[in-house]
This record gives sequence, C-alpha cells and structure tokens, in this order.
Amino acid sequence: MSERLVPSRRALAIKPTLIRSLRAGMGSSTIDFGLGQTDLPVSNAVQRYFRSHLDGPMLAPYTLNAGLLSARQAVARHVGAQADEVLLTCGVQQGLAVAILGLCGPGDEVLVPDPGFPAYANLVRAAGAHPVHVPLRKPTEDAPGWGLDLEAFEDRMGPDTRLVVLNNPGNPMGNVHDPAELSALLELLDEYDVGWISDEIYEEYLWEGQFVSARSLRPDTGIVVAGASKSHHMMGWRIGWMIGPEQTLKALTPLHQHLVTCAPLPAQQAIVAALEDHDEELASTREVFARRRHKVLEAMADVELGSPPSAAGAFYVFLDVRPWLSKFETTVRLAKRLLEDEDVLVIPGEGFGPSGLGHLRVAYTIGGETLETGLRRIREFLMRHRPHDGDEP
Ligand code: PMP
Repeated sequence: MSERLVPSRRALAIKPTLIRSLRAGMGSSTIDFGLGQTDLPVSNAVQRYFRSHLDGPMLAPYTLNAGLLSARQAVARHVGAQADEVLLTCGVQQGLAVAILGLCGPGDEVLVPDPGFPAYANLVRAAGAHPVHVPLRKPTEDAPGWGLDLEAFEDRMGPDTRLVVLNNPGNPMGNVHDPAELSALLELLDEYDVGWISDEIYEEYLWEGQFVSARSLRPDTGIVVAGASKSHHMMGWRIGWMIGPEQTLKALTPLHQHLVTCAPLPAQQAIVAALEDHDEELASTREVFARRRHKVLEAMADVELGSPPSAAGAFYVFLDVRPWLSKFETTVRLAKRLLEDEDVLVIPGEGFGPSGLGHLRVAYTIGGETLETGLRRIREFLMRHRPHDGDEP
C-alpha cells in the first residue's frame, strides 16, 4: 500500500464485525441464524404505493437535508413528535453516525452497553472519542432478562463522560429494559449532566414486559434513533429517523448533509405509505415472529442452559451456553464447531463485547422447515456436547 494511502488511526481503530468474518465460513446449504434482518417481503403498503405511481414522470430530486416534510410529518405522527423534531436518515446506522459523530469528540468518553450492537463502540472510535463498555446485568432465576446495572454505570461515569448509548429492545439479547431501571438510569444521567442516544429500532417487537421509550421519560436530554428496516422489512431501502430536540437536530443537520445529503427519496416516499398502514401490517408480522420465538424457546426448553433465555423483545434469543465453555473455552470455538459439524450459523456472544462470552445469538429471521431443522441441529449439538459434572471449568 502506498504510504500516502495508509488509513488514519481512527479508521484503523474500527474493527470488522465477527458476524461478517464467521459468514465467510458459510456454504450455500448453511442454515443461517446469523444475520439480523427479516426474511419477509417489503410491506404491502409500500408495494401498493409504488405500483400505483409507476406511470408518472420519474423525477428523483434531492430532498431537503432533513427529509421531505410529508415524510417527517408521517414519522412525527407515528412517534408523537413535531416534524421539526424529526430528521430522516439512511437507516438507523446513519442516524447513529450523525448522533455519535455530532455529539462527541476527542477527549470524550461514551458509555456503551456490553453486550451490545458493535456499531456503537466503533462509531465512538470514528469520532476520536473513547468507548467504555458497561456490563449489563446477567439474567438470574429471580430477575430474568439482561438488566441495567446502575452501579456499573455509575462506576464508569466521570468528568469526561459525554454520552450513554442505550438499545431497547436490545440486540443481541432480545432484552427489554425495565421501565423503573431505565428511569433510574436517566435520573443518574441528569445528576452527571450526561446525554443519551437510545437505539429503539426493535420497538415494535415486544413479547413480554413493558417497553418505554427513553424519550417519553426525558424528551430534552437525548436522541432516539429508529426506523423501518425491521418493522417494514426495508433493510436495503435505507430509511431511518432521529427524534430529538429541534435545536439539536438543526445543529446536526449540516453534518448529515455533508455525509449523505438526504435519505433516499423513494424510501422517504415509502415510509409515508408504510406508516399510514402501520397497524394492520405489523400485526401479521408480529404473529410470524411470535410463532418462531415460541419454537426457539420450545426447542431449548430441556437443554439445561446456564440460565433460561427470556427473549422479551426484538427477534433474538441469546442462549446462555456458559456451561459448555469447559469444553470449548470460547463461544467463537463453539460456534465454529456448530458451523462445521451441523452447517448452522449462530453468532458467538464475544462479537458483542466481553460480557457476551458464553452466549450464542440466535436470530429467528428464518421460518418453516429451515427453522425447525436448524433448531433441531443446535439442540442435538448442545445435548451431544453437554458438559459433565466435574469437567474442568
Ligand atoms: N441498531 C441495531 C440494534 C441493529 O440491530 C441494527 C441492524 N441490525 C441497526 C441499528 C441498523 O439498522 P439499519 O438497517 O436501519 O441501519
């Protein structure tokens, strides 16, 4: 490589995800529980809209940087905000980029959940700031589901802490934050004068418990990022939104402008249609995922995992396979063996931060016979390699 083209330290600090590197070992027959994208066709309302507009003149201008007013109004109605509190982005990923690059820089520390979606820490590094992993509380018999550990957050809070990133419902654990714990955390952030970004991309997928948006508790101190990728099966359309205080979004719009100009026009038009027909579409999608979730939990019911998977939200089950570490040492090795022996891909928890060790993320984004076969193979593999009493840890 020419020395003139050596990437910057910031660029080199950004790591490829484990998900992508494991996928390199997949074959065409591999049953894929790995990628967090739905397998359903894009929302009917979107398809109807585009079919009915096929004959018109096909102009495709840039839109306003923050997005078409009609699309911002549609999102605003959907989330209970004003259009000025909405900025449309190229998927949630770009909303995260604008929020993180726009709100922190060198010298700042940003607390990110561990386990958590890998983009958070990497975007913090891209901003030249320092990500600090905060371990979430592991599930127990008494408190199932991963929780917010207030002490762990407070321990890591200091004079340089600028932001906290939250993800609710969460990837990879399929957890949903207890409203009282979330409220207590936001109170702590008030004490330390720290802002928040809450990634609520899975807000529509709630199976147990109660989902409360961080914005409904503290509308003035943070930004919610969400979008249509998961709710309307529009991953490749690249449409998402930031919801936040008008002045903050206004100040961040030039950054968004110089990154991407605007979200794609067809995707902006699509969400107006998609959000109008939201409830009917979503009800059928939810039924599909609820059935699959049930199948995963049923298949794992007698596997004697380290703790029972709760999977209260999103479309992930995070299997606690810590007992199997006595044999495989790392979940990366376990996942590789599962891929080699059973032709099934799941994602080892280490890919989501150090606290993910000993867990496997199963995305139930496949259905039918493939889902059943894949679950049977995971189950039989775990049963066959079940650790025995007295194994060395
Ligand atoms: N946040 C989380 C937690 C995700 O799981 C994903 C996608 N897997 C994204 C953001 C990115 O979403 P989008 O496709 O809308 O950019």
